[in-house]
Amino acid sequence: MNYGLFVLSMLALAACNSVEETPTNTRSGAANSITGAEIRQHMEVLAADDMRGRAAGTADYDRAADYVADRYRKIGLLPLGDGGSYFQSIRFFETRLAPGSASFSVARDDSQVELVFRDDFIRAGGYGEQDEDITAPLVFVGHGIVAPEYGHDDFADVDVAGKILVSLSGAPPGFATDQRAFYSSSRGKQAIAMERGAVGIINVRTPVDQKRRPWERYLAGVGSPGMRWLDEEGAPHQGYPQLAGSATVSEAGAEKLFALADADLDALFTKHAAGDTGSFDMDISATLGRRSNQRTVRSSNVVGMLKGSDPELRGQYIVYTAHLDHIGVRPGSDGDDIHNGAYDNAAGIGTILEIAAAMAVMDTGPRRSIIFAAVTAEEKGLQGSSYFAMNPPVPAEQLVANINIDMPYLGFPVGDVHAFGAEHSTLLSAVQEATILSGLELTPDPLPDEVRFVRSDQFSFVKQGVPALALKPGSMSLDPATDGAAALDDFLKNHYHRASDDLSLPYDNAAAERFARTGLLVGLIVADRQARPRWNDGDFFGDKFAR
Ligand SMILES: [Zn+2]
Repeated sequence: MNYGLFVLSMLALAACNSVEETPTNTRSGAANSITGAEIRQHMEVLAADDMRGRAAGTADYDRAADYVADRYRKIGLLPLGDGGSYFQSIRFFETRLAPGSASFSVARDDSQVELVFRDDFIRAGGYGEQDEDITAPLVFVGHGIVAPEYGHDDFADVDVAGKILVSLSGAPPGFATDQRAFYSSSRGKQAIAMERGAVGIINVRTPVDQKRRPWERYLAGVGSPGMRWLDEEGAPHQGYPQLAGSATVSEAGAEKLFALADADLDALFTKHAAGDTGSFDMDISATLGRRSNQRTVRSSNVVGMLKGSDPELRGQYIVYTAHLDHIGVRPGSDGDDIHNGAYDNAAGIGTILEIAAAMAVMDTGPRRSIIFAAVTAEEKGLQGSSYFAMNPPVPAEQLVANINIDMPYLGFPVGDVHAFGAEHSTLLSAVQEATILSGLELTPDPLPDEVRFVRSDQFSFVKQGVPALALKPGSMSLDPATDGAAALDDFLKNHYHRASDDLSLPYDNAAAERFARTGLLVGLIVADRQARPRWNDGDFFGDKFAR
């Protein structure tokens, strides 16, 4: 069976069933206008070698941004950037660890142990002084979390002011998935450390994390610059310059550290994995040094809008996001240094461009206004989306939903889709409706422990109280001869954030089509509903962040 035709007839059927609802009719027309071939054309431009991996803050990224702006113009989107352009220009503080400058030693009485960069520890450039050299006592703080709803406080029995925290990655096992995701974030842990007056965090990876992400994966990112957007005072947003004594240690590095402190690391892992707590002064001190090469750079979100068709609702905005940046040029394998980011995230940009194009040619467009934001510096920690969500070009309280598309893997005939985070709000029912129309099956997140809801640009909107979701193709294959789970696994293991995430990977036109059509329908349904999306009653994220 030709699945594409099947979808078309399903859509036609849906149109016939609701005679006087013209939007359904135009919805199906709009959905059918999206083709996998057009999405692929955008990928071929954006993931070509001459785009050199689109690293934020480079001229390569700017060329990609020009391409997106040019497409917006052809589609007829209204410019929502600076001075009547599509570009929302952002000033960033960029920091890069100077080669050979990182040092880390620990001392107890008169014995001292050196840790070796890369083997035992890694660290990035800082957001404070260019040259830093800090010595401070170490204090073990469990996971370094304060979670009032669980009565959990790793700082209850210790004074950490002026000290460097030694903390385990992740969060206690008793936390529910959402809470664990939220509290595991390093940014959140840094904020608490700052509040308590600590001067650094040594991140110790738990056995769970060691397994999930081998040390070699951490090493791949060493030396690439960090970025934080600059606020009105010229300070890097969440740069936390006081945390000058921060590093991540390998298994070997952690062993050196705990051996000198006469503490049994394995016993601590076991204890905390069982949900126990307990913080203590380690009675050793650490000295950490580094030099950071710092500068200010600019990079832009590319923002356009389709004005809503309903005068009463067009003052509300649904934002489609996809990050345009990738990790650029860094040493790769087989002499290929260009990290093209074909799936991460040229595919996502191609998808939202075709959604925009399809919406723009509808007879009666969506009732609410739709913003399309190709955001920068996602790979630097969701920076472009964070800036956008905190400095939107429309009134912040009128942002009603975010639909994010990041790294859709479309290399086989995908039959299902996930909507990370949709279950927190009324957006879930819109996705359910959309998937019935598009023929993709809506399946739950197969890896809830990877907490992907908080790991891409949608989370920047959640933090501003905006209901959000990330739409992602699943691993179900419509072709019995292709194992979708194996294909997706192969991508994640062997190509994710590697130079080989390029145009030579398989691409399934029909899968791309079905996925983008689903993405389009979600937006149309949300845009046309009378009720504004809202968080579910008592939802963790809603309660934490809703305005
Ligand atoms: Zn990425």
